[in-house]
Amino acid sequence: MGLQDKWDNMLGLVTGTNDPTTLKAVIEVQKEMSQLLQENQNLRQEIHDLKNERLMDSELELIGHFLYKKHDNSNQAYCLKCWDSERKLIRAVNIKMYDIPMSECLRCGFTSEYIKKS
Ligand SMILES: [Zn+2]
Repeated sequence: MGLQDKWDNMLGLVTGTNDPTTLKAVIEVQKEMSQLLQENQNLRQEIHDLKNERLMDSELELIGHFLYKKHDNSNQAYCLKCWDSERKLIRAVNIKMYDIPMSECLRCGFTSEYIKKS
C-alpha cells in the first residue's frame, strides 16, 4: 500500500469526525507529507541533473587548458573554468594575441593558448 493509499484510508476513517484533536493531527500529518513530497521532488531533480553532468563529463576531454567534446571534430574549445566551477559548457572563441593563436572564454575571460584537437 503506497503512501497515497494509506492517506486515503486514514481520511476515510476520520471523515465525519468533529474531534478537534483528530482533525489537528490529520492537518499536521498532511502538512508534513506535503513537505516530504516537495523534498522528494527536489531530490529527484537533483539526481537527474547530476546524472546529466556525469554523462557530459565523460564525453569531454581536456586538451591544454580547454575542454573538447570527444566525438566532435570541429575543434571547438570549451571553457574549463566555467565547466568546473558552474557546470556551464561555454564555447571559447579563437583570437590572436601577439600573433599567437589563443582561445578566450567571453563569459569569464579565461584565455590560453589554442591547441588544435586533431
Ligand atoms: Zn569561462
